[in-house]
Amino acid sequence: MELKEIIRKEFKQRFGVEGTVYASAGRINLIGEHTDYNGGFVFPGAIDKVIMAELRANGTDKVKIFSIDINEYVEFGLNEEDAPVAQWARYIFGVCREIIKRGGRVEGFDAVFAGNVPLGAGLSSSAALESCFAFALNDMFNNGSIDKFELARIGQSTEHNYCGVNCGIMDQFASVFGKKDHLMRLDCRSMEYEYFPFHPEGHKLVLLDSVVKHELVDSPYNKRRESCERVAKRLGIETLRDATPEMLESIKDDISEEDYRRAKFVIGEKDRVLAVCDALVKGDYETVGRCMYETHNGLSKEYEVSCEELDYLNDIAKECGVTGSRIMGGGFGGCTINLVKDDLYDTFIETAKKRFNEKYGHEPKVYDVIISDGARRVE
Ligand code: ADP
Ligand code: MG
Repeated sequence: MELKEIIRKEFKQRFGVEGTVYASAGRINLIGEHTDYNGGFVFPGAIDKVIMAELRANGTDKVKIFSIDINEYVEFGLNEEDAPVAQWARYIFGVCREIIKRGGRVEGFDAVFAGNVPLGAGLSSSAALESCFAFALNDMFNNGSIDKFELARIGQSTEHNYCGVNCGIMDQFASVFGKKDHLMRLDCRSMEYEYFPFHPEGHKLVLLDSVVKHELVDSPYNKRRESCERVAKRLGIETLRDATPEMLESIKDDISEEDYRRAKFVIGEKDRVLAVCDALVKGDYETVGRCMYETHNGLSKEYEVSCEELDYLNDIAKECGVTGSRIMGGGFGGCTINLVKDDLYDTFIETAKKRFNEKYGHEPKVYDVIISDGARRVE
């Protein structure tokens, strides 16, 4: 059965009526890593894996929700002190509260939801969940008057204030703004964005999940952020967004070798995002792929956020002749994202599974993704 039918059936059984079905998507980021906090660009797109929910106003001041995947029913009121305990319900409660805090309307409703975004795999199932409900509640109770950026911010604030995750805006932005066959270049300084065509005929996008997550002791993210801030300060600029390779060379002798390498990655990554955008306009997927490999190299050798398993997956991709491959996300585990020619796909996946299993005792998980629409009313 399709996701929608499963949800409709469950909703009918529980609440005896029909509601309206909404969905929002998980996301990938093709290129632009560790650029957000440096005022640079990210380049995400929504994918064909979604959280889907059926909702209906119930005329009370209570929210009644059933999560099909967790197989749990939760009820909560809409005041701050009504926060539910279940983690999944906190995402929805947070969205309600953040809408209300902004002067929007939320009344009691019934809902059933389910999804196929893998949880905690770096595809942002939480943003899909927030965006689905933010979009739905905007449509149901606010005549769609909350603009899309605000919907994304509602999701982001939910993570900050109700889920303890201090995330940027990219995931929710991608989930809300996602458009079929398009990636979105988001300028993390000005928040301007632009759609670029992405329909790589003859290629597939596939993620290989190493299923490892290295817990590191000395807060490596903060260390890298500090390096970037130090170099920017030395250059007399606000963020590395405004730095050029020449500027960096001119202060090379005054900064540590490590700070130099890290800044070099960030500055190079900004240019790579722009190069990928140009290449996409021309339909030049070879250049896109080459930039992906360069990003992986930079993340591994200069920024030092890779790990053995991800480097191994990247090496296998290269050996198989895959067009592009790189770490996706913060690093130290998680997925690689791969742009693979159709006729190489089977060999690549088989080889990667086999060789990874031989070395690490388990296969990577495989997620095929197609760039698709973001938050929407279904039907
Ligand atoms: P991700 O990288 O996928 O966003 P997170 O840890 O941020 O990982 O979010 C995962 C959480 O989102 C889950 O623990 C759960 O609370 C909620 N969630 C995601 N998908 C679902 C789903 N299909 N059903 C219920 N809850 C979900
Ligand atoms: Mg998340």
